[in-house]
Amino acid sequence: MTDGQDTSAPLMFKRVLLKISGEALMGDQNFGLHPPTVERIALEVKRVHELGAELCLVIGGGNIFRGLSGAAQGMERTQADYMGMLATVMNALAMQSALEGLGIHTRVISAIPMATVCEPYIRRRAARHLEKGRVCIFAAGTGNPYFTTDTAATLRAMEMNCDAIVKGTQVDGVYDSDPKTNPDAQRYERITYDEVLQKHLKVMDASAIALARDNNLPLIVCSLSAPGGFAEVLRGRGKFTIVEQN
Ligand code: UDP
Repeated sequence: MTDGQDTSAPLMFKRVLLKISGEALMGDQNFGLHPPTVERIALEVKRVHELGAELCLVIGGGNIFRGLSGAAQGMERTQADYMGMLATVMNALAMQSALEGLGIHTRVISAIPMATVCEPYIRRRAARHLEKGRVCIFAAGTGNPYFTTDTAATLRAMEMNCDAIVKGTQVDGVYDSDPKTNPDAQRYERITYDEVLQKHLKVMDASAIALARDNNLPLIVCSLSAPGGFAEVLRGRGKFTIVEQN
């Protein structure tokens, strides 16, 4: 037993990549980082790490800067996207601090090399970190403009041979309509990638879903708000939606 958890149920997946949006780190603010919220999510990661999972993290940058909003204000799109990618590095460093504060060994690994701040992305080196039990926080998305951190998360999950990708959201799965505005919204237990795409369900962006589908990477959608919820989901309990092939 660790941290008061029942560790008897085995993990459904040994190596997982958790994708969270930058906005998940804002708390009740409408911009930037809310340190208690970052620490709360770090604790969720710690609980899963203690169960023996090998963990990768990808954090978006939407709480600080999004390329599309920069472009809408007249900035060149590629330039704005680079700013968005740099925002993800800031979030990754904040999460690294919070995890290290909890005694977890981590590496921030950036798709855009910035040697004084973090490691550059080298696939084999990152895989070795995972084997050694370090949490790898992949920053700067794919390193390319016109992409999103959803796509980066799917790409890194495949490169790292993850068994699944977990998208941590505000709600406990994928619904047929927005549960915040429609009290009759129904949650899917299971849904296929094609249904997500056809029904335009807001799970991850379409290119990320298509990439996961084409490579048969299971995608779990769950909430990170309940303490211990992430660990429960990885043991097949609690509420979540799994997106997979037929
Ligand atoms: N971005 C990019 N290429 C990538 C990943 C991200 O250009 O591979 C930029 C893009 O401008 C995006 C911003 O980084 O708007 C922040 O990422 P994202 O919108 O995915 O963050 P989230 O919505 O998950 O917080």
